[in-house]
Amino acid sequence: KFISLDGIDGAGKTTQLNVIKQWFEKQNLPVQFTREPGGTPLGEKLRDILLNPTSQINLRTETLLMFAARQQHLDDIILPTLNQNISIVSDRFTDATFAYQGGGRGLPESDIAQLENWVQGSLRPDLTILLDVPLEIAIQRIENSREKDRFERENSTFFNQVRTAYLNRAAANPKRYAIIDSSHDKESTKAQIEHALNQLFHV
Ligand code: C5P
Ligand code: MG
Repeated sequence: KFISLDGIDGAGKTTQLNVIKQWFEKQNLPVQFTREPGGTPLGEKLRDILLNPTSQINLRTETLLMFAARQQHLDDIILPTLNQNISIVSDRFTDATFAYQGGGRGLPESDIAQLENWVQGSLRPDLTILLDVPLEIAIQRIENSREKDRFERENSTFFNQVRTAYLNRAAANPKRYAIIDSSHDKESTKAQIEHALNQLFHV
């Protein structure tokens, strides 16, 4: 199965990735963890460029670099792994492009959808776990992190648009998404994630 984990910066992806890891260990199911942008040597180089606060990148260029990293990631990691019947868990996937470059920066959704079809064909995650938190909590968490990347330096209007775009996508396609409120204690978030995974794998 192909699972992506997404949400605004400060939603708690890092903590909940460990929950997902532990779930796979407990179930004894084969899985590989990866991330976007990144996941391959080229993708990680593109990630450095994309996240570096000193990079000057136009919106279409930013979007194409995200999809360039994604194409390499699909060809070299995601598809070969799925073909071996090993699950993939990706820390961010194309929903992030719809949310950040689309919702946050205003690139038309139809442009992103075209690139999505060109790069991915019909491939979509089987499950997207969307971690959702109110903006104030996310911003507080970002403020506490040591070094902010190029995206984390954006203002609250930007993050509000990103969050809305994530929620709208999930609402339009409820079968693929598990929207998880990660504003409360870690245990309740954990239980919701485990429930979504149990359902996907019928365990
Ligand atoms: O570690 P994290 O997933 O937060 O780092 C990735 C960064 O890249 C995030 O700040 C996210 O906002 C940004 N990003 C993006 N568009 C994507 C994927 C990631 O703006 N398609
Ligand atoms: Mg981040």
